[in-house]
Amino acid sequence: MANESNGPAVGIDLGTTYSCVGIFQHGKVEIIANDQGHRTTPSYVAFNESERLIGDAAKNQVAMNPSNTVFDAKRLIGRRFDDHVVQSDVKLWPFEVIDVDGRPKVKVEYKSETKAFYPEEISSMVLTKMKEISEAYLGKSVTNVVITVPAYFNDSQRQATKDAGTIAGLNVLRTINEPTAAAIAYGLDKKGGGERNVLIFDLGGGTFDVSLLVIENGIFEVRSTAGDTHLGGEDFDNRMVTHLMKQFKTRYHKDIGKNRRAVSRLHTACERAKRTLSSSTQASIEIDSLFDGIDFYTSITRARFEELNADLFQMTLEPVKKSLRDAKMDKSQVHEIVLVGGSTRIPKIQKLLQEFFIGKELNKSINPDEAVAYGAAVQAAVLCGDTSNNVQDLLLLDVAPLSLGVETEGGVMNMVVKRNSTIPTKQRTPFTTCWDNQNEVLFKVYEGERAMTKDNNLLGEFLLSGIQPAPQNVPHIDVTFDIDANGILNVSAVDTSTGSESKITIANDKGRLSKDDIERMVNDAERYKAEDDKQRERVIAMNSLESYCFNMKSTVKDDKMDKLSKDEQKTVLDKCNEVLSWLDRNQTAEKDGFEHQQKDIEKVCAPIIKKMNLGAGGVPPRLPRDSQRSRGSQQSSGPAFEVD
Ligand code: ADP
Ligand code: MG
Repeated sequence: MANESNGPAVGIDLGTTYSCVGIFQHGKVEIIANDQGHRTTPSYVAFNESERLIGDAAKNQVAMNPSNTVFDAKRLIGRRFDDHVVQSDVKLWPFEVIDVDGRPKVKVEYKSETKAFYPEEISSMVLTKMKEISEAYLGKSVTNVVITVPAYFNDSQRQATKDAGTIAGLNVLRTINEPTAAAIAYGLDKKGGGERNVLIFDLGGGTFDVSLLVIENGIFEVRSTAGDTHLGGEDFDNRMVTHLMKQFKTRYHKDIGKNRRAVSRLHTACERAKRTLSSSTQASIEIDSLFDGIDFYTSITRARFEELNADLFQMTLEPVKKSLRDAKMDKSQVHEIVLVGGSTRIPKIQKLLQEFFIGKELNKSINPDEAVAYGAAVQAAVLCGDTSNNVQDLLLLDVAPLSLGVETEGGVMNMVVKRNSTIPTKQRTPFTTCWDNQNEVLFKVYEGERAMTKDNNLLGEFLLSGIQPAPQNVPHIDVTFDIDANGILNVSAVDTSTGSESKITIANDKGRLSKDDIERMVNDAERYKAEDDKQRERVIAMNSLESYCFNMKSTVKDDKMDKLSKDEQKTVLDKCNEVLSWLDRNQTAEKDGFEHQQKDIEKVCAPIIKKMNLGAGGVPPRLPRDSQRSRGSQQSSGPAFEVD
């Protein structure tokens, strides 16, 4: 890790629906926009006959290709297939999830083949995109990252997130809790005045998380978490979709409900309108040929949007109350309230929350959908040894979100690490045998707060053998739980009665990947990236050939000075038309094929065009059509003097 600490370090918020990347440089955090100019990127990956798409490109084609467009990988990552969360979510997704040795995999058709990907691999693709976005902006390669995870993520989900980073070729300096990152973004760890109670209200695309942090001397403690795993912006979009479908039916007596593509287009338009309604009181929706050739033009007011979602908005206060109850705190004791997640841009939500806290000001000066990446970027800079004043030394301590322990006789949960212990931590507890001459012990490691292990979550199990035969209760076995700064757990046991140590590792039977698996996925990821690059070059070659043809055609037709003979004109036009029809027939050709055609057409056209350019003045540089238009409009609607 140390040798990679030169080079830039970025912070990535790997979200359920949208991801965001930021970097601390020139004394401040910059959130990096993607190739579409958007500061957050959909956590979507799509596969089709010819290519893999990630981000906006994947989300944009979801209506055409629903079963091969994968999203929500964060709901799967680090979980077992039979996990009840996985089981209930599977029913909602348009893509297929299969059980491979107890672990979920997403099944898709890619280049006419059936492929199955682990959630780590899908997330690694999103991370690759975020890496590329930062590399394009910084102009150098990026490997060091801090990735954020929800506060309630367990050990396995954290490890799986780190694995996703590794597969993407990243060096994950650390995973940190999302609410912690948001608090760092606002510098709440640096405000003096002793203990500060901070409520983080994170309402995103599909999930709602409330966390109560207590921050003192740069130490972050998660006191409680609450939320709703299925509440967020998409629900608000859906309410608007339902409303407009009804409106469509009333107006045109037609039901668009069964037309997946129409519903999906309406959904996209509604999300856009919803965003508009956060800053304007009215938004218009215009969808050409939505259904049966009907252009659907309508508008919606902020008041109507609020009315459609009144119950959902109101519902967000319940987890706030619960987290306060769990932390045994009164709302008057909360020092800071931080808005996180794109949906907290909705004015009504802000109003409800502020009213609940009796008019208290909310922290919302940082874009709420960027606050987590912002804090992660700060933390990345700290971990890379940035010594600038703005990033003063931050002692970042998180806590274990759930208690950890081993099963003892009768299925009893014996806690070794208590919930909310500050991490990193190392804790040792003695155990012994329960029958005479017992020479092995099966350790089952669990997480959870319940007294019986059957109600908790099995993390893994391992065997300690070679215990010296002795009566029950005599052997002395020390079990050590070691959680590192990333929240990753190592459990070991030592038979102290014989003085001999045995090294034990937790079996890979949780939702985790083995080293071999990861290595294979790293190779796959590189292969997919190479394929993507190849595809990109192919498309560039195709576009360049096509635009060459169109340019040639219009240049020759524009030959006002009559520099070319009729024959020469015809030669160029014929060749262009020949190549264009070749293009129509060979859309899937390889890069070489396009380049070959390009050379061929240049051989024919270049000498003729050269002759045109040799004349007096030559051909002026051609403006793309758009800028010609904007020039024109500048002249007509601009100030009343000549614009040259
Ligand atoms: P995630 O939940 O994946 O962490 P975000 O925090 O970025 O993602 O939240 C995404 C959600 O925020 C989406 O539903 C999006 O429509 C919504 N959103 C983004 N900007 C606005 C806005 N200006 N007004 C209302 N909702 C918004
Ligand atoms: Mg988020």
